[in-house]
Amino acid sequence: HPIIHLSAIQKSYYMGKQAIPVLKGITLDIHKNEYVALMGPSGSGKSTLMNILGCLDSPTAGKYVLNGQDVSKMDDDSLADVRNKEIGFVFQQFNLLPRLTAAENVALPLVYAGLAKKTRHEMALAVLEKVGLAERSHHKPNELSGGQCQRVAIARALVNNPSLILADEPTGNLDTKTSIEIMDIFGKIQSAGNTVVLVTHEEDIANHAHRIVRLRDGLIETDRRNEHPAKSA
Ligand code: ADP
Ligand code: ADP
Repeated sequence: HPIIHLSAIQKSYYMGKQAIPVLKGITLDIHKNEYVALMGPSGSGKSTLMNILGCLDSPTAGKYVLNGQDVSKMDDDSLADVRNKEIGFVFQQFNLLPRLTAAENVALPLVYAGLAKKTRHEMALAVLEKVGLAERSHHKPNELSGGQCQRVAIARALVNNPSLILADEPTGNLDTKTSIEIMDIFGKIQSAGNTVVLVTHEEDIANHAHRIVRLRDGLIETDRRNEHPAKSA
């Protein structure tokens, strides 16, 4: 089964009694080990769709099956559970805790999983190694570059071994060269068997992904396989 199965997803916001449709019928399957870029003009519904994919919000209509579980009609508590187990989030602003070291930031999701401190630290170091940042494990965010901070955030998203990595404009605060490094890291993560869905405004960045889905006005405009993803040197 696909990791993500969306069928006729609709989402409306309400201004008083008036429904404002934002997603107007999104049908989409994403399989394990795909690397997908979600594009589209501002206001086309990308953030709304990512919120639904991330179980942060529920659709108004339609069906969402995540890794075999129908999440479209779950209550908030069950959604929070699914979110913690199945999804790793990466944000534009990194969202790292400034007083914690890289390793402590990465280990944070494991605190909620109830693992012992030593185990948490070892697991954090292992994922920091995967994103090429092992030697920075004891540094705090203000001692790291933007690209390094984002790698810490990616490591934190991975540490729970989720079935899906969701990233909303993960390169939005980074220069081009660093953005490409980050896209390569997502590529490595994908090669290792993970599934990555990210939002970007930039064609050159999206071109590193293996599939490009474009939204327009709440609908999928195009969905194409990228046969020759860009690679850095
Ligand atoms: P983007 O996803 O393009 O970076 P945002 O998600 O921040 O941008 O906002 C996209 C649009 O959605 C903006 O026009 C913003 O005004 C609107 N928007 C976001 N949240 C709300 C809200 N709670 N109520 C009304 N409009 C909102
Ligand atoms: P994108 O991420 O592609 O910029 P969004 O999903 O943020 O698009 O927004 C799509 C539309 O939904 C926009 O017209 C925006 O104003 C509206 N919107 C987003 N969030 C809210 C909200 N919480 N309340 C009302 N309108 C919203």
